[in-house]
Amino acid sequence: MLLDNTKNGFTLKSDFELRKAYFLFKIISNKTLTNLGKTALEVALKLRLPILFIVKGTVFEQFCSGETLDESFDTVKKLNKKNVKSYLHYSVEGLENEDSYDLSLKQVLSSIEFVAEKPILDFTVFKPTAIASTQILKKVSSNKSLDKQEKMLFEKSLDRFNKICLLAHEKNVRVLVDAEESWIQNAIDEIVLSMMMKYNKEKAIVFNTSQMYRHDRLNYLKTLHDNSIKNNFFVGIKLVRGAYIEKENRRARRNNYLSPICSSKELTDQNFNNGVSYILSNLDRISLFSGTHNEESIYKIINIMDTKKINRDDPKIWFGQLYGMSDNITFNLASEGFNVIKYLPYGPIKEVIPYLIRRADENTSVKGQTSRELDLIRTELKRRSVI
Ligand SMILES: Cc1cc2nc3c(=O)[nH]c(=O)nc-3n(C[C@H](O)[C@H](O)[C@H](O)COP(=O)(O)OP(=O)(O)OC[C@H]3O[C@@H](n4cnc5c(N)ncnc54)[C@H](O)[C@@H]3O)c2cc1C
Repeated sequence: MLLDNTKNGFTLKSDFELRKAYFLFKIISNKTLTNLGKTALEVALKLRLPILFIVKGTVFEQFCSGETLDESFDTVKKLNKKNVKSYLHYSVEGLENEDSYDLSLKQVLSSIEFVAEKPILDFTVFKPTAIASTQILKKVSSNKSLDKQEKMLFEKSLDRFNKICLLAHEKNVRVLVDAEESWIQNAIDEIVLSMMMKYNKEKAIVFNTSQMYRHDRLNYLKTLHDNSIKNNFFVGIKLVRGAYIEKENRRARRNNYLSPICSSKELTDQNFNNGVSYILSNLDRISLFSGTHNEESIYKIINIMDTKKINRDDPKIWFGQLYGMSDNITFNLASEGFNVIKYLPYGPIKEVIPYLIRRADENTSVKGQTSRELDLIRTELKRRSVI
């Protein structure tokens, strides 16, 4: 099978790096060890113990591309040699205040300028809550009225969204808007819709993210598509399963409402695959950025593309994976001529620790993902006769 080729999959890893990755995933696969590591890290940071070099040589190296844009660009070039594109994200989580939102705006704008200058980069990304208040997005999402001060702050957020999408349009850089929790997502959907209507007249520049673990998202895609026909704009969709399942279900239970999340993994998978089919049947208007490490979903996309005789490098179809994960998908798809892109988080080590902890948690909790990584690395070590 295409995605099982470990020689391609680990083409950029030396024997030493491969052994290190094996060791790391082995630790991450153990919940007790991961929790112990997290506690030790928090304590060491509080006591100002010099441990960042350990983080740098382990999880940081595995899941982040560098501390600065320039440092990360070395990784971008390496990946590009194997036909893998990159999109960079300054993964430092700011504070919830206007200064921090303005700073994030500056970072996103300069990342657009950076991408525009480099022919080997196409996309950029941002998280809505990096430029807008969660509390205000929540109020708008539930149709609550805003007071005068909140209205003024919301206008400022809209202006930040607009500045980003305007520059992206001017510089021809595609921009992915991350999806967040359902209780703030209605407002984000509305804002991104208005950006698509304005800036996606010629092609999809602005992409919204659709989390298919939500049972209402297929309808969302259909309504958005109808709207795009009526109002003559193009749609960009980053299709993902969704990252906040525990938080979503917990909140729904606590507040006694129907959880927006599908009631089983199988239903999420079905919903994701239905989303894929719907988009690929309407490719004249919708572009697909599929953000998944699920191999069945990848094969499903390839099958539909083959059946519909869609070119492998059709500019409207992209496969995205996170840096440090599922390299078998990345490099095997790239070697077959598909459009593949890695999400490259970067930032000062100490500042990206929350991102790294989330990666470790996700790999610990996502059944199958870590054991698949371990199996593949073991196979490749055996193939190289270094185990
Ligand atoms: C490039 C990229 C960009 C991303 N951007 C975003 C983003 O903007 N917003 C966001 O929320 N996430 C984002 N994600 C994360 C994504 O939503 C998933 O959490 C992650 O990719 C794991 O899902 P999977 O499809 O790769 O694989 P799988 O391992 O097949 O699926 C795991 C996912 O299935 C769902 N699931 C698991 N158990 C159940 C259950 N019992 N019932 C219902 N559903 C279940 C959950 O969504 C879980 O994350 C992104 C991922 C990638 C690769």
